[in-house]
Formats: sequence, C-alpha cells, structure tokens
Amino acid sequence: MVRSEEFLKEYRRLYYIKNRERIKNKTKERYFNNLDESRAASRQRAAIDPDRNNKRAKEWRAKNLERARAAGRQRAARDSEKNSKRAREWRAENLEYARETCLEWRSENLEYAREYSRKAYAANKFRHREYRAKRRTRIKAQLGVVSPNIINTLFREQHGFCHNPYCMADLVFVKSFHLDHIMPLALGGMHEDANLQLLCSGCNLSKGAKHPDEWDAKRCATVTW
Ligand SMILES: [Zn+2]
Repeated sequence: MVRSEEFLKEYRRLYYIKNRERIKNKTKERYFNNLDESRAASRQRAAIDPDRNNKRAKEWRAKNLERARAAGRQRAARDSEKNSKRAREWRAENLEYARETCLEWRSENLEYAREYSRKAYAANKFRHREYRAKRRTRIKAQLGVVSPNIINTLFREQHGFCHNPYCMADLVFVKSFHLDHIMPLALGGMHEDANLQLLCSGCNLSKGAKHPDEWDAKRCATVTW
C-alpha cells in the first residue's frame, strides 16, 4: 500500500501528540548526553541566523504572555538579591550615565515618578517618623552653638557652591541643597556651626550617615543635579 505524503504527515502529527512527553524527554536526554556537540550545533544555528533565537523567543512570549510573566516574576524573586547587587555595581561604575538617564526618565514621566515617591513615602511613613524623632532627640542631646542665620553664613562662606570639592555645584541652580552634618549625628557629631556645611541634595543623599572619611566624595560628584 502506498501512503500519500499527506497521510504520513498526519500520522506523524498524531504520533507526536500521543508520545509528546516521551519524545521531549528523549530529545532532552540526547541534548545533555552530548552537551558539547549540542552546544556547538546551537552556536552554528545561531551563527547562520543570529536573530532566529530572539525572534522565536519573542514569538513564544507573545503567544504565552501570562506564562512568560509568571516565569519572569519567579526568576526575579529567585534572583532578587543577585540582581540588585549587580544593578548596584553597574550603577556605581556608570554613575554619570545612570544619573543622566534617571533624570531624563523622571522628567519624561513626572506624574508617575511623583506618584511612586508618594507611595514609597506612605509605605514607609512610620520609618520616616521614627527617623525624624530620633534625629530631633539627637539634635537635642548633641546640641552645640548654632548661629541663627547659619545657612546664610555658610552660603556666603562657600560662595554659593556645594561644599563637596569634587562637586562644587552652584547651589542657586540645583534643585535643592541640604544642611549637612560633616560628622553625622548618628556617629556622635555635634549639631553646631563647626560641624555644618551646605551640600547639594545629590551629595547629601549619597553621603547619608557615612563617616566623612568613608564617603566617596569623588564618586558622588554631581554635575547633573
Ligand atoms: Zn554636590
């Protein structure tokens, strides 16, 4: 009996459906038993059509969006520590670029960014409150002599520039500047004239409660704030 091409095709299709799991496992087995060869073959296929894998992955994703998203979430949860460490490292190495793109994104998505900040603040309201309360207590406990017009005085003394010598941002033009404790209150610094300086917000936020020797002022030099 001569079987038509059509018939064989249909026969193979049904055979595959019936034995899908077995065939898949067999293929996998073959792949992993000959790993070097398999990888070489993949590389070769990729070299012939470098876009093939991307295209197929995209197509698969479009067809299985929910599954793809779930898998993405799972991966993100599993690798969250590793990923954020990697992101931090990348950011430190590409600080200028990161800042520029961040500001650019923010100005293009201002409403969204504001909403996000509001939400983040609301979610951490108690932490903020606690932080401010602690700070007030410290200022009381570590209070020295603070001139009533210290901000104006410092502004004059610093000629209107951020006090980080690597930054020197013009405080008139930055978005905001902060009164900073050179030795942080948290490390026992006093709230007094001699321990105060004006920093642009970028420098101040990056300094945080770090010891002045530990703060990498060079890295935090802000040109774009
Ligand atoms: Zn600065």
